[in-house]
Amino acid sequence: MEICFVASECSPFIKVGGLADVVGSLPQALTRNGAHCCVVVPLYKKINDNYGHQLTYLGEYPVDINYTQRIVKVMGMDKDGVTYFFIQHAGYFEREGGIYGFMDDGERFAFFQKAVMELFRAINYWPDVIHCHDWHTGMIPCMLKENYWYDSRYNRMKTVYTIHNLAYQGNFPKSMLDSCLGLSFRLFDNGNVRFDGGISFMKTGIVYADKVTTVSPNYAREILTSEYGEHLDQVLMMRGSDLWGIVNGIDTSVWNPTTDNHLAYNFDRENWQEGKAANKAALQKQLGLDEDPHCFVLGMVTRLVDQKGIELVIQQMDEIVKMPMQLVILGNGNAEYERILTDCENGNKGKICFYNGYNEPLSHLIYGACDGFLMPSKFEPCGISQLISMRYGTLPIVRETGGLKDTVNPYNMFNGDGNGFSFYQYDGLDMKEAIWRALAVYYDVPQHWTNLVYHALDTDVSWDHSAGIYMDLYHNLGVW
Ligand code: ADP
Repeated sequence: MEICFVASECSPFIKVGGLADVVGSLPQALTRNGAHCCVVVPLYKKINDNYGHQLTYLGEYPVDINYTQRIVKVMGMDKDGVTYFFIQHAGYFEREGGIYGFMDDGERFAFFQKAVMELFRAINYWPDVIHCHDWHTGMIPCMLKENYWYDSRYNRMKTVYTIHNLAYQGNFPKSMLDSCLGLSFRLFDNGNVRFDGGISFMKTGIVYADKVTTVSPNYAREILTSEYGEHLDQVLMMRGSDLWGIVNGIDTSVWNPTTDNHLAYNFDRENWQEGKAANKAALQKQLGLDEDPHCFVLGMVTRLVDQKGIELVIQQMDEIVKMPMQLVILGNGNAEYERILTDCENGNKGKICFYNGYNEPLSHLIYGACDGFLMPSKFEPCGISQLISMRYGTLPIVRETGGLKDTVNPYNMFNGDGNGFSFYQYDGLDMKEAIWRALAVYYDVPQHWTNLVYHALDTDVSWDHSAGIYMDLYHNLGVW
């Protein structure tokens, strides 16, 4: 079974959010289940800077775009049983300043997808399944069926399209169909790729893939409703019988408090209390928080975008500063959120810390040091951060949406059951109540808190279960 993952992010090479965690860890889990996987991503500048010397040149070939031809090079590398292919084109991918948000993102990822389609022929590599992830790869199933059907080597391949976040759709002008994608305007006229007067990479992936998956069963149900469907609920409904919700796991060897070298003190189930105390002390010192071993510390590690419920935190800041706790937020994104959170820190030094930026080592320390981890998301396809926090004995406080609902079992005050805390309405007061519930258990019912931490540490957040479901899905495609 040969599976080819195609994505715009992959840990540890390049990461913006949870997509990278998944693409960086699911292939290894599938390998353990008997599949062989390769992963194709663009060769961004950061990858070239950090890994360039480890890559092998595998070949080069022309790709049509905007009525001209551009040459791409393929670089490769084997790591942990997985083969990685990097598509190199300096003009499109080796840019300063992040990997998304350029005026020509549509053209860049159209080029990437065309380059992937030609990669197979160029290096004579013919996977059984192309597994595409999010809008950056949504046109591949369409290209395969519309432009390569007459070549039996392509024709036998099946496609899976995984939606990591339906809100990012890759919607572009119709003209791109011809100029960048090399597809017929017939597909606009018949509606297959059309969306809101233009074309949608996300919709096209949903329409054309042999199977569509998303990253939790609950999100798979939610996106069939107009509230969460992002105007694609009807299209998704049409694919209902081919839509699978499979919850994400994490790489438990990377996220492992016993071996994590970003922690001040490694710990496991036996000595988690010492571990928390030592890491908390280190975090408070490093971030200039009051060095108080008894104070509850609440963490957030997040992109600062509307989806993540930052507005609820800001709305409740007056109340939060009165609570017996410290708040640490690591994140970047929306400039207005960054400005407000900086002011919150400046007005409450020692109690609130906002670290503006992307910082992998600090994120590990936060997961290891905090007592609680806040995710008041408006919507959350799966969420990786709550899985990591449980792995580090840090209890998640989440809104009951998407994968947060599937993965966090809220505290039951009567029998002490649960591995976190939750609230239902997208509402600041409800979030505040949930934080208070956590504080009350932490300070007043420590035995229950201890049990909750054990439950969190014992929660299976690995890929073991879900990788098996992906294997079932691939078998369902009827290739074997
Ligand atoms: P999303 O994919 O929507 O951003 P997830 O919870 O699925 O949300 O995944 C977020 C991932 O990105 C986690 O691994 C988290 O630790 C990481 N992350 C997010 N923001 C930052 C940051 N500022 N610094 C370091 N890691 C971050």
